[in-house]
Amino acid sequence: MSKQLGEEMEFFRQYNEVLFNQLEKKILDKETTNQQLRISVEEYRLQFKNISDVVFMIDTDFNISNISPSVEKLLGYKAKDFIGRPVSDLRHIFTSESFERAIANISRMFKDERIPATIYAVVAKDGTLKHVEIYGSPLIRDGQVAGTISVARDITERKLMEEKLRYEERRFRTFVEHSLDIIVLMNLEGTITYINPAVEKVLGFKPEERIGAKGFELIHPNDKKFLADSFNTLATDTNSPVIKAEMHLRHKDGSWRTLEAVGSNLVHDNIIEAVIVNYRDITERKRAEESLKEAELKFRTIFDSASDGIILLNVGDGKFSDANKKICNMLGYTKKELLYLGIHDIHPQESVPFVIVQSEKQLKKKILIAKNIPVMRKDKTVFFADISSSPITLGEKEYLLGIFRDITERKQAEDLLKESEKKYRELSIIDDLTQLYNSRHFHAQLEIEIERSNRYQQPLTLLLLDLDKFKKFNDKYGHVEGDNVLTRLGQVIKRCLRDPDSAYRYGGEEFTIMLPMTTSEEGIVTAKRIQEELRKEVFSPVLDQNIYMTVSIGLAQYKPKEEMKKFVHRVDKLMYQAKKDGRDRICPDRSRYKHSVIGSS
Ligand code: GH3
Ligand code: MG
Ligand code: MG
Repeated sequence: MSKQLGEEMEFFRQYNEVLFNQLEKKILDKETTNQQLRISVEEYRLQFKNISDVVFMIDTDFNISNISPSVEKLLGYKAKDFIGRPVSDLRHIFTSESFERAIANISRMFKDERIPATIYAVVAKDGTLKHVEIYGSPLIRDGQVAGTISVARDITERKLMEEKLRYEERRFRTFVEHSLDIIVLMNLEGTITYINPAVEKVLGFKPEERIGAKGFELIHPNDKKFLADSFNTLATDTNSPVIKAEMHLRHKDGSWRTLEAVGSNLVHDNIIEAVIVNYRDITERKRAEESLKEAELKFRTIFDSASDGIILLNVGDGKFSDANKKICNMLGYTKKELLYLGIHDIHPQESVPFVIVQSEKQLKKKILIAKNIPVMRKDKTVFFADISSSPITLGEKEYLLGIFRDITERKQAEDLLKESEKKYRELSIIDDLTQLYNSRHFHAQLEIEIERSNRYQQPLTLLLLDLDKFKKFNDKYGHVEGDNVLTRLGQVIKRCLRDPDSAYRYGGEEFTIMLPMTTSEEGIVTAKRIQEELRKEVFSPVLDQNIYMTVSIGLAQYKPKEEMKKFVHRVDKLMYQAKKDGRDRICPDRSRYKHSVIGSS
C-alpha cells in the first residue's frame, strides 16, 4: 500500500473511464481491441483483482455496479454478494451514523463533487467493528455523472494505534503533572517552555512563575559553568549521552537545595527540539546519608575497638559478612580472609555439631551464652571462648551476630585456682565447719602423742564425743540448723580445753579430744566441763523454741605400748556404751576405774 489513497483512486477512475468508453463503443472484444487498449484493460483487471484496498462503483440507479475482490478480506463478504445490489443494502454493514453520512456523500458525488478521505465505521461479517477511510469521486461520461468510484482502506489498526498514542500521551502527561521530580523543558536558548507543578513543592515557585524564565537563574554559582557546558552539549549534539549531576538550586525562600539533575535532549527528525532536565530533590537524602555515614563511623569505631570479638554470619549463604578487629586477632585471619569462611572453618571439625546445637539453643533462648566453645585459629591451634549469638535482620537478610570472649586466660586462672584449692584442701588440717582439726590430722597427731607418751611415760587420755539424737534434729530442723549445732559445739569444746589439749572433728557429728599429760581422772573433769557448757547452749532452730543438745562421751587413758588402732577402738566402744546406758553421759574405761559410768548430775 505504498500509493496514496487518492492516487490509487485516480488510477482506477481513469482506467474506468477508458473502460466505459470502450464498452460504449462495443469494441472490447479480443479481435477488435487494439493492442494498446488490451494491455491497459488487462492491467486494469489485474490491478483491480490484486489491490488490497477495496474499489467499488455505484451506478445511477444507486446499485453497486462493481467491487474489487479485496472486499472479502475487509468485510468477510464476497464481491458477488454486493454486485448488482442497491446501496440501501449496505445499511447492515455501516453503523447507522456512518450509513447516513455515506448516503449523503454518494448523493454529493452524483452532484459532481469529490469526497475527500472520510472515516466510517463498518461491521464485518464476523461482527468485528472496523474503521475504513473512503475516498470518492464521480465518474463522468459524456459530460454527465454516470456513477461514482470509491476506494476504501482499512484503518482499524491505525486508529487503534492513534488511540493508544493518545492514551499514552495522557498517561505521560498525568505522570509528569504528578511527578515529585521537577521536569523542565527548555528551548535551545535555555528558556523554560514547560515546567511541571513539582517545582512549587521543591523550590517554592509556581510553574507560571518559571515558564519564560531562564533555566540557569536558580543555579548555584559553583554549578553554573558545569550546567552551561552540559546544556551546550545537549543543545548541539544529537547523540549526546544523558548527563547526570548533583546541583544546588535556590529555593524561593533563599535556602539552597541539593538536587540530582538528569539532562537529555528531545531529538525529532535529527533536529534537537528541546533540552529536558529532571531534577530530584535529594536534600533530605543527602542529610540522611551524612548522618548515616556518621552513625556508621561511630558504630564502626565501637565495633572495632570492642574487647570482644564480633562476627556477623549471613544465614543465607552461611558465610561471614563482617568481622571486627578483635575477632581477626583472635582467629589470626584478616577480615578479607574471614569473609570467605563460615562456622565450619573456625571450630575444630569434631566440635562443629556441638557448636551448632549450642547456637540453636541460644536462638531458642534456652541459654544465654554458649560456654567453653572450642574455637580454631588459622594456624589450627584451638582456644576456648564463651559465645553469645543472636539473630538479627538487616534489610531483607537474616544474620547471626556472634560475640566471642576468649576465656583461655580465665580458664587457665580457674584451673590454677582449682588446683591450688585442691592442694590447700589436701594440706589443710582444719575442719571448715567447726574450726577444729580434721580427722586426718587426728591420726597424725595421735601417733605423735602416743610416741611421746611411750617415750616419756606420760599419761595420755582420749575422749570421743557423739551428739545425741542428732539425726532427729537434722530431720526436724534441716541440715543447715544441724551444721549450726556442730559449729557451736566446736566452739564449746575449744572453750573447755587447756593449752596442750587438742580437739578434732572425727566424723560427721563425732569429735575426739586429745589430752596429753592427762590421766583419765583428770580427763573426766574436762569431759564434764564440756557436758555442762553444752547444756547452757540454747539452740533456736525455730522462733520461740529452745532446744538443748547433749553428747555421749567415751573416755580412756592410753595403755603403754598399746596400738593406736586398738586405743581408738577402745574409746569408741566406751562411747557406744554411754549411748547404750542412756546417752548424755560419760563412759570411762572400766578396767582402770571402779566406777563404770559417770552419769549426768
Ligand atoms: P545417736 O547418736 O544418739 O544414737 O543418734 P543420732 O541421731 O545422732 O544417730 P547417728 O549418730 O547414727 O546419726 C548421725 C547423724 O548426724 C546423721 C546425720 O543426720 C547427722 N550428721 C552427720 N554429719 C553431719 C553434718 O556434717 N552436718 C549435719 N547437719 N548433720 C550431720
Ligand atoms: Mg554418730
Ligand atoms: Mg549421734
